Amino acid sequence: MKIAFIGLGNMGAPMARNLAAAGHAVTGFDTAAVAVEGVTMAGSAADAVRAADVAITMLPSGAILRAVADEIVPAMRRGAVHLDCSTVDVASARAVAETAQAAGLSALDAPVSGGVGGAEAGTLTFMVGGDEAGFKTALELFEIMGKKAVHCGPSGNGQAAKICNNMILGATMIVTCEAFALADKLGLDRQAMFDVVSTSSGSSWSMNSYCPAPGIGPTSPADNDYRPGFSADLMLKDLRLAMQAAEEADADTPLGTAAAALYARFVEEEDGAGRDFSAMLPRFERRGRG
Ligand code: NAD
Repeated sequence: MKIAFIGLGNMGAPMARNLAAAGHAVTGFDTAAVAVEGVTMAGSAADAVRAADVAITMLPSGAILRAVADEIVPAMRRGAVHLDCSTVDVASARAVAETAQAAGLSALDAPVSGGVGGAEAGTLTFMVGGDEAGFKTALELFEIMGKKAVHCGPSGNGQAAKICNNMILGATMIVTCEAFALADKLGLDRQAMFDVVSTSSGSSWSMNSYCPAPGIGPTSPADNDYRPGFSADLMLKDLRLAMQAAEEADADTPLGTAAAALYARFVEEEDGAGRDFSAMLPRFERRGRG
């Protein structure tokens, strides 16, 4: 397939490299000067997409995605697929898909989970919104860049699945960290706490697979001085997208709201910026109830 790849950052570069290594012809564009093995760079986003069967975008925000879509949609050939893998607000995802469909394109929103490690290893999970025909075309690309792709329904539903998942993750990580800090103060050994909770009804991915306590459970960013992993900054971005969606949909999300406020304080006023999102545990260790 002829593939265009716009946005070759921490995630986009390894994803594009994997597509090229699998034998696809990949043309790339990024506003920063980047070089990616196997990818031919174009002078503009419009130039990159002109011959493409599938144009992939992997960009920082909904505003940037909307601007890039305005540029690439008119340049793409009818019947081609715009596959957006960025994490953006549901409203931007739906607006961009509408513009693409009106121009005779297929449009998919397909945010990912799995982080930079998953992008490099080709083991991402894609949560996909959009039409069935586009999903079928993109499936072989999902299989190269990832290990699983779930079709979640019409446009915007991929983003909806992503922010709902990450709202659960953010709140679960916080409560796991506060429970460890409480257990410390009650004199409960951390290994005993892990052994009980990880096999009981308090178990979760945050406890069992990504334990925020160093030296406990499988290796995680806690064992690497809380270097990300998944940064607190990106968790805050996703929680804010969840809060924006909840506002627009008039959904009551008290724990999501509390999680967004706590990560905002952690990143913007405390020492959370640039640290893994599980560094909430040392934050709670230092604190009392006041
Ligand atoms: P990044 O900042 O490393 O990469 C974004 C790239 O887009 C940069 O290279 C930037 O120069 C480029 N860019 C910005 N504006 C552009 C434009 N107008 N035209 C072309 N290129 C432009 O970010 P990232 O970590 O690769 O994340 C990309 C997306 O993936 C984000 O939406 C993020 O939320 C999501 N995501 C990231 C992770 C992660 O662990 N990093 C995990 C899951 C999802």
